Amino acid sequence: LSERLGGVFDRLTRQGALTDADVATALREVRTALLEADVSLPVAREFTKRVQAKATGQHVTKSVTPGQQVVKIVHDELIAVLQGEGPADALKIDNPPAAILMVGLQGSGKTTTTAKLAKRLKDRQGKRILLASLDTNRPAAMEQLAILAAQVGVDSLPIVAGQTAVQIAQRAKTQASMGGYDILMLDTAGRLHIDEVLMSEVQAVRDIAQPRETLLVVDGLTGQDAVNVAAQFDGQVGISGVVLTRMDGDGRGGAALSMRHVTGKPIRFVGLGEKVDALEEFDPERVAGRILGMGDIVALVEKARETFEAEQAERMAKRFAKGLFNMNDLKTQLDQMLKMGGMQGVMGMLPGMGKMQKAAAEAGMDDRMLRRQIALINSMTKKERANPDLLQASRKKRIAAGAGLEVSELNKLLKQHRQMADMMKKMGKGGAMKQALKGMM
Ligand code: GDP
Ligand code: MG
Repeated sequence: LSERLGGVFDRLTRQGALTDADVATALREVRTALLEADVSLPVAREFTKRVQAKATGQHVTKSVTPGQQVVKIVHDELIAVLQGEGPADALKIDNPPAAILMVGLQGSGKTTTTAKLAKRLKDRQGKRILLASLDTNRPAAMEQLAILAAQVGVDSLPIVAGQTAVQIAQRAKTQASMGGYDILMLDTAGRLHIDEVLMSEVQAVRDIAQPRETLLVVDGLTGQDAVNVAAQFDGQVGISGVVLTRMDGDGRGGAALSMRHVTGKPIRFVGLGEKVDALEEFDPERVAGRILGMGDIVALVEKARETFEAEQAERMAKRFAKGLFNMNDLKTQLDQMLKMGGMQGVMGMLPGMGKMQKAAAEAGMDDRMLRRQIALINSMTKKERANPDLLQASRKKRIAAGAGLEVSELNKLLKQHRQMADMMKKMGKGGAMKQALKGMM
């Protein structure tokens, strides 16, 4: 526990200038976070290099630690990279019938996304839409699109057996013009891997359909592979935007950064489920937070500032600077943690704490534990709080009973207090603590 708490306090209270070493340390963590989030290695490398250039020599904001400052820079840079130009709904779909070509690997979610997007454009922009499946490999795929089209209330091109993808595209185009449709969406066939047959077929379809938009559908759970897929499709077919599917899964969405980095094309939408309305505009901020796995470290700093009252911090800073840390101080800290959303809340806001959070919950370390510890301190006398060394067996028994808990639990609390007091003493020596606590106000 002390290690975990130590980490919390370290991040809350360390402060200084943003040195090369600070930046390097933080960036190592960031790069690991990126790789864990399935960002491809070259992209992660290049990205951290850019952040390094930006971060080095930057003025440290008074209210955050250097580590947090770097993470904030990374966070902002991530958002900047992820943010394409223009809003998601800025698809080029004027001059009816505008063709939208959907490309991607098999199973990436093309057909589903086609239906989702059709529904969205119909519902929100009142467009008349025709869907056509060019998946000649799998007859079931054409049926699938027709069923989905009916479900979302748009038309689909009647299925004619034996036609090639190019023939179907031609027929769809004619039908879209004659039928007075605003938009023609072409759902292409995919392969499990990129190959020449797939690419030349898509190219031929593109030449016939002259799409205004070519959207690459990518499974948001794919990692390293996403880069190849994006580079190949963009190079050989030319894409105008990206849709990331399965962002409802527990992947960390690193594919988004790889996509942006490799293609420079905007990510328009994200798929958040199998249902036809599970499609949302891409939100760079959300994905950036998810990639860093940091909940929001900036929020942590802000929350700490909000809840930490100025006088209290000042008073504590003075005490800690003298190496004083008694039970009252510990209680203040525990109250503080509870206010900030408890152990879960605090840990959830720190990078890489997801696993620990789970472990902590399993070990019974949660808000209830914080409350039990506070109850123990509450049942101590004033004297005992000020001087925990007084606590011998009989007093311990009384205190534990007063809180309705076992003595063993009190012993744990005392051990924790000792460890923290030692830490405070160490930090107090350099006067760093005072500065740090002041900085939090
Ligand atoms: P295609 O081969 O590229 O046309 O892929 P499909 O559209 O047929 O989708 C393959 C599977 O992925 C289907 O079972 C879909 O329901 C599922 N799917 C598609 N998009 C999403 C999504 O955003 N989230 C989830 N959870 N499943 C999705
Ligand atoms: Mg399909």
